[in-house]
Amino acid sequence: MKSKLIYKYPKTLLNKGTGFLAGYSHTLNPYAGCSFGCSYCYVRQMPVSFRGEEWGTWVDIKKGAAELLRKELTKAKSKGKVTIFMSSSTDPYQPIEYREEITRSLLEVMVEVPPDFLFVQTRSPLVQRDIDLFLRFKDRVRISMTIETDREEIRKHFTPGAPPITGRLKALQLLAEAGVPTQAAIAPVLPSSEEFPATLAEVVDRVCVDDYFMGDGSGGKRTRNLGIDSLYERLGLEEWYNPAAWRIVYDRLKGVFSDDQVYVSQEGFAP
Ligand code: SF4
Repeated sequence: MKSKLIYKYPKTLLNKGTGFLAGYSHTLNPYAGCSFGCSYCYVRQMPVSFRGEEWGTWVDIKKGAAELLRKELTKAKSKGKVTIFMSSSTDPYQPIEYREEITRSLLEVMVEVPPDFLFVQTRSPLVQRDIDLFLRFKDRVRISMTIETDREEIRKHFTPGAPPITGRLKALQLLAEAGVPTQAAIAPVLPSSEEFPATLAEVVDRVCVDDYFMGDGSGGKRTRNLGIDSLYERLGLEEWYNPAAWRIVYDRLKGVFSDDQVYVSQEGFAP
């Protein structure tokens, strides 16, 4: 689906880390809106999406973001430790980033004015374009790639607008081989095969598992409001929609990864 694109000059860029991301001093969103438009996206239930247009059909492009970040980051650093989560309510590597390079421009600023730590959360293979910049952060960065399942048909049911799984695995592999700290975020847990953990182990040494009930910032309420349960019912996969379902994948992961490589919910996204 084509998104409506609007250029905007934001007044502020760095926001305070709160709730699930309270461990961070700041969150950073290069765009508002997200053209991936995932069915279960909890941002659909947040004020940023309340504008009378369907989530996934519009993207605001933040012009002048690099100059603004330079100012805000310099000021924030003068006050204390700066840890940044990018991004909390958009995907920093959604398709428009190929052309606009807002995220890349922000990384260029952060290479010059380095935060103490940067966590990058995406589901897009485009993230591999910026390996050269991530390497400049050394161990003060982690790239977390959402890979909720290894079953492409399941991915298509829940996130038809998102990139295929194979491209994400390949990007993670390239990042890891280049020496960039990575993670696969199985978040939210979707129905997957028994081979999933072994597939992940070929490309990453750290995984995080999360679900709607622990990870949507409202104990599953936002997800329930979206009516995602009816999608599970339609697919005959009800056993995967409950607060204990994540354990299926967690136990499988533990068969392949060591204890210190498997994180659960918030701890996997902490600075
Ligand atoms: S990629 Fe992330 S922010 Fe974008 S729609 Fe999907 S869950 Fe929401």
